Amino acid sequence: MAEVFCVGELLIDFVAENQGSNLSEAVEFTKKAGGAPANVACAIAKLGGKSSFIGCVGNDPFGHFLLNVLKDENVDVSLAQRSKTFTTLAFVSLAEDGERDFVFSRGADRELKYDPSIKKKFDHNILHLGAATAMLGGPLEEAYNHYLFDALTKDSFISFDPNYRADLWKDNQVAFVKKCMPFVQKSHLCKFSLEEAQLISEKKDMHEACDALHDMGANIVTITLGGDGTLLSTTQQKQTVPSIAVTPVDTTGAGDAFIGCLLYQISELANFESVFSDFDLLLKMVRTANKAGAITTTKYGAIAALPHKSQLID
Ligand code: ATP
Repeated sequence: MAEVFCVGELLIDFVAENQGSNLSEAVEFTKKAGGAPANVACAIAKLGGKSSFIGCVGNDPFGHFLLNVLKDENVDVSLAQRSKTFTTLAFVSLAEDGERDFVFSRGADRELKYDPSIKKKFDHNILHLGAATAMLGGPLEEAYNHYLFDALTKDSFISFDPNYRADLWKDNQVAFVKKCMPFVQKSHLCKFSLEEAQLISEKKDMHEACDALHDMGANIVTITLGGDGTLLSTTQQKQTVPSIAVTPVDTTGAGDAFIGCLLYQISELANFESVFSDFDLLLKMVRTANKAGAITTTKYGAIAALPHKSQLID
C-alpha cells in the first residue's frame, strides 16, 4: 500500500454557536480542528490507509490539540513542524442574511519550512497538495512548489485540490488562479468544486470547463457537484457519476472525504498506471468516493463525520 503525504494547513476553526449573529455579536464559539489537507489525511487513515501530514502548527496548546486530533485518527505527524508563531486561527459565524462573517488570523501554517530530505519518501507514494492557505505566500508556498517538483522527479502520484476560499481571495482571484496553474498542469489528478473549475477555466459550462482544464494540461479531473455527484473527466472520456441519496445535516468536509477516499483507493493499487488507462476503474473509484462524501454530510463536523471502510461496502 502506498503512503499518502498531505501537505498544507492545519488550523483551529472557532465556530460561533449562535448562528444568525455576526462575529461582533457572537459570544460562544466551539473549537474545531480544520484544514482541508489535514481532513484528507484523516479520511485516508480512517479508511485504513497510510497517511502522513506535513504542515506547521504553533508550539502552543492549540498546536498540541491539533496534532493530537490527527494522531488519534492514526495519521503520521512525524513530519509536522512546530513554530514559535501562534497556531493559525479562523473565526466563523453565519449571519442572519446567510452571509459568512469570517476573521482569519494567519499564524504558524505559513511557517512550514521545505525539507529536501522528505523527497526520497515520495518514491512510489502519493503527494496530495490541498492548497488553500498555501497560495497566500510565506515559506509554506515555497515548500509547496518544491514538493511538487520533488514528486515529479520520483515515481509519485500527485493530487491537487485548490480549495478556493472566497473569504480569503475574493479581491484577488486572478492571483489565486495564476498560483494554481503549475499544480493544475503537473498533477496527475485535480479535484475541483464547480466554482473552482469555472474560476480557473473561465468557462461557465462544466463540460467546457473540463475541456479547458485539459487544454491547460490537467490530467484526470474530478468536479464535485454536491448532491449531484461528480463529473469525472480524462482527455479521452467524461461521465457524471451520481451520488447516493442522503439527508445532509452539515456538508463541511464532504469534498475532503471524497478526495481522501479516492486517494485511499489509488494507494491500494499495485501500480498507478492503471488509473490512466482504465476509465472503468476510475468510475468505480469515484462511485465509492461519492459515497464517502455523502456519508460525511449526514453528521456534524468534518473529521468526526468521515466514514470507516465498513460503511462504504455495498
Ligand atoms: P467542501 O469544500 O465543503 O469539502 P466540495 O464542494 O469540495 O466540499 P461537495 O461537492 O460538496 O465537495 O461534495 C463532495 C462529494 O460528496 C460530492 O461529489 C458528492 O459525491 C458527495 N456529496 C456532497 N453533498 C452531497 C449530498 N447532499 N448528497 C449526496 N452526496 C453528496
